[in-house]
Amino acid sequence: MRVNITLECTDCKEQNYITTKNKSNQPDRIEMTKYCPRERKKTVHRETKK
Ligand SMILES: [Zn+2]
Repeated sequence: MRVNITLECTDCKEQNYITTKNKSNQPDRIEMTKYCPRERKKTVHRETKK
């Protein structure tokens, strides 16, 4: 039940991370604070819409 998702920086819209999530545990779009290499700081990254 795990699906691949892409995490996108909410500031610069760069797609920085690919990860997986369990769709039954997290049916909504997930958000996590991650390092953005483009801005060289930690920003909120959100799952992209498919
Ligand atoms: Zn960014």
